[in-house]
Amino acid sequence: MAETREFQAEVKQLLHLMIHSMYSNKEVFLRELISNASDATDKLRFEALKDPALLEGDAEYKVEIEVRKDARELIIRDNGIGMSEQEVIENLGTIANSGTRKYLEALSGDEKKDSQLIGQFGVGFYSSFIVADQVTVNTRRAGQEQGVRWVSAGEGDYTIEPVDKATRGTEIVLHLRDGEDEFLEHTRLRHVIHKYSEHLSLPVRLHRPADGEDEGGYDTVNQGTALWARPKADVKDEEYHDLYRQLSYDPEPPLTWSHNKVEGNLEYSSLLYIPAKPPFDLWDRDSRRGLKLYVQRVFIMDDAEKLLPSYLRFVRGVIDSNDLPLNVSRELLQSHRVIDKIRAASIKRVLSVLGDLAKNDADKFARFYDAFGPVIKEGVVEDPDNRDKIIDLLRFHTTRTEGQARISLRDYVERMAKGQEDIYYLTAENLTTAKASPHLEAFAKRDIEVLLLTDRVDEWMVNALPEFDGKTLKSVVRGDVDLGKLIEDPQAEGEKARVEALYKDVIERVQGVLGERVESVRVSQRLTESPSCLVVADNAMSRHLEQLLRQAGE
Ligand code: ADP
Ligand code: MG
Repeated sequence: MAETREFQAEVKQLLHLMIHSMYSNKEVFLRELISNASDATDKLRFEALKDPALLEGDAEYKVEIEVRKDARELIIRDNGIGMSEQEVIENLGTIANSGTRKYLEALSGDEKKDSQLIGQFGVGFYSSFIVADQVTVNTRRAGQEQGVRWVSAGEGDYTIEPVDKATRGTEIVLHLRDGEDEFLEHTRLRHVIHKYSEHLSLPVRLHRPADGEDEGGYDTVNQGTALWARPKADVKDEEYHDLYRQLSYDPEPPLTWSHNKVEGNLEYSSLLYIPAKPPFDLWDRDSRRGLKLYVQRVFIMDDAEKLLPSYLRFVRGVIDSNDLPLNVSRELLQSHRVIDKIRAASIKRVLSVLGDLAKNDADKFARFYDAFGPVIKEGVVEDPDNRDKIIDLLRFHTTRTEGQARISLRDYVERMAKGQEDIYYLTAENLTTAKASPHLEAFAKRDIEVLLLTDRVDEWMVNALPEFDGKTLKSVVRGDVDLGKLIEDPQAEGEKARVEALYKDVIERVQGVLGERVESVRVSQRLTESPSCLVVADNAMSRHLEQLLRQAGE
């Protein structure tokens, strides 16, 4: 007996949106269903390492696609892990993570972008309803007896019932809507499958109907070899772009990439991409990050955050190791010697790719920095081993740069004023506030350049960066900034004493009025136009950091 169940409210909303807003890029449903089939075979391959009985004698993983023209049905069939009844209810009736809400928030109205988002947010299955007015899922989990059938028209509810299914895995039957006949055509399907599955390591087979002499049968549409395992010279740029698109769901081509085969002590292939744009969840605590990990071509896990530190979380790609055990788990990864080595080498690789970009392609590097500059800065705190390399990549606005131009610390040091010993910086909310700061007056007067730091992470970063090239980084708002040495006039010291004597009364009065609220009141050489300003004692928290902590609810 079939049981009827309601979709979760969010799923209803999502379905409505998909059905009524994806007009021009409908074919993405096929990409999503093939990608699910591929995930399902990856999962089984992995579980079967521990429990070979799950294979039920069939280890030839594949996806098959078949058309039943008269019935207007398109069928996508895999021999992957399948789903139990409970899994069907959880996966195809609710949205386990916060995916939907985020997906809905991220929608831009641009269909091309929005259709890429479907995959990113883990709502791919529901895209079937873009082209189908009824979807039937027949599935049996590997190793279990009982199959399950799920049927829905994509409106408010679905039915679920037990079913007999001889083969393990999942079969999805789409009954196409009126007007979607193109997805019944062999050439059209072939084209779409080719486009989205060329680099899957799983064969995708399309059924060719019988025609005269031809009895029909299944043709494999994709090459099915892992691109990263091929020699670099044989891989075209477009192929690298295609794989990047599959990995990242980013419609734009990557900024650059690095493909390497490491041999010797440790054997692995790595393909690391630097995206051109930040993903929507760059600042999410639980954003997907890291690389896909394979062991001897077998997919092990997504999102292997152990492979790269958090400050390189924007990197996408694949690591394929020959040295790890196939049954490697997340726990094992935490402290595996091989992983530590691959990680260290991958960090170096990424930093050197970025270093080359900085040296040879200023334009691309600026694009990289616009997108990921603030993230890279976290590395100054997070990765002391590579700090120098990271610092070389940093670029800053200053009191002398214009527009979006930025300079490196090296540039800064090279053009320091005569007699200047320290590197000066000011942290602020944004460039406009920074440039208007009264603290800069004395520096401008003496022709001293000041770094203007406006990223949220800057405060933490400079704390971890006490000096560069033997020069101390000093905040212009701190009490120990001594510009005295930079005053050319030898009588300046005498002058200072004279001014102090002159203003003794004023200082005492101000101190009396402000009382406990300030630590001290002094005559200063900081200002040339504003009458007074607040400074911070040398060991105190800066005001900007204070504000940040207050915002963060500390
Ligand atoms: P995602 O793939 O990002 O998790 P989807 O909406 O595409 O999101 O799929 C939801 C879930 O449904 C999957 O995570 C998986 O557990 C399950 N699922 C979908 N298709 C299959 C399939 N062919 N075989 C096994 N499980 C599947
Ligand atoms: Mg999916």
